[in-house]
Amino acid sequence: MFIKPIVKPNILFQYEALLPRLRESYPNKPAILSDYKRILAGYYGEKSLQYYLSRSPSANYQKFHSIRLSINGNYFQMDFLLIAPEKIFILEVKNIAGTLKIQPSLQQVEWTNTQGITKILPDFVIQAESQKTQLNEWLNKHCPSNKPIETLVIIANQSCQLVIPKEEQGHPSLDSIIRSPYLPAKLDSLSKTNTNVKPHQNPKLQQQILTQDCPQTLNILKNYDLSDSDLISGFRCTCCSEGFFVRWNRKWKCYSCEVVKKTSEIVHPLLMDFRHLHGPLITNYQFRRFASVTSSSQAYKTLRSLNLPTIGTKKSTTYNLEMLAKL
Ligand SMILES: [Zn+2]
Repeated sequence: MFIKPIVKPNILFQYEALLPRLRESYPNKPAILSDYKRILAGYYGEKSLQYYLSRSPSANYQKFHSIRLSINGNYFQMDFLLIAPEKIFILEVKNIAGTLKIQPSLQQVEWTNTQGITKILPDFVIQAESQKTQLNEWLNKHCPSNKPIETLVIIANQSCQLVIPKEEQGHPSLDSIIRSPYLPAKLDSLSKTNTNVKPHQNPKLQQQILTQDCPQTLNILKNYDLSDSDLISGFRCTCCSEGFFVRWNRKWKCYSCEVVKKTSEIVHPLLMDFRHLHGPLITNYQFRRFASVTSSSQAYKTLRSLNLPTIGTKKSTTYNLEMLAKL
C-alpha cells in the first residue's frame, strides 16, 4: 500500500517552465538542461520501481516515496521508505547509464558514462547507511521503534553495466546493491515475512512521517542567478513546447506548430509557468511583463475572469494562483 505514492516532483515542473523560456544565448543553458535531465532520470528510475514494489511481499508494506525529514536542523532524503511488519527498509535508487565500477574499499564508485567520460561518485551504500543513521535518530526522537532498519541500493537502469574489481569481490557491502527485478526476492529474504501476516498498521508512525515530510523547495531563478532579461516572455505553446503564441484572428496561433487557441486556453499554462518560477502571487504588472501584454485593462479583465482570491485593492491587487494549481 502506497501511503505516499510516486508522483512527479515539483522541481521537474519548475525546470519544464524554465527551460523553454530561457534564451538560447544564455551561456549556462546546457548546464541547467543537464541538471534537469539528471533529476528526470532519477524520477524515471524511482517510477520504474512501482511494478516491483507492488509485488509480494512488499505489496502489503506501508510505502512512502521521496521522504525528506530533518533531525537537528539537517535534512535527509530517502527515495523510498518501506515499513514492513518486522523491519523498515530504505531504498536508494540509482538510474545511471554506462558502467559503474563499484569500489567499496575506496568508498567510491567509478562511473563511465555512455560518452566514455569517467567521474568518481560517492559510495552508494555509505550514502544509504548515512540515511539509516539519521532515520534512527529521527525515530528515537519522534516515534521510537524497535524495528531494525535495512538499506538497499537499487540499480534501476537495466542496461547499466556493473563491474566489481577482483579485489573487491566478497566485500559485505556488495550484498546491499541489487538490480530492480531482484527487489521482491531480496525483500522477501530480508523480511522473512510470513505470507499469512496481515497488513501491518502503524498509524502513529505513518502520521508522523507524513506530517514531518518536508519536500525540497527551490527558488529556481535565484538558484541559477537568472533575471527577467534571461527569460522570454509571452504565452508559451504547451503543444510543441517550443513556440510562443501570436495574435491571429481574435485568437492565438503558435508560430512553431501553428496550433490555434482561445485566450482562456493559454492563460492557465502561462500562470502555471509563473507560479513555478516566481511563486503563487501575481500582480497586474507582473502578469503584463510575464505575458508580454501591454494593456493594463486587458490584463485586469483576464485575471478577474479567473475568480482567484485576491489581496489588496486597485493597483496593489495581488492574485493568488494556488487555487488554479489544484484545477
Ligand atoms: Zn506550438
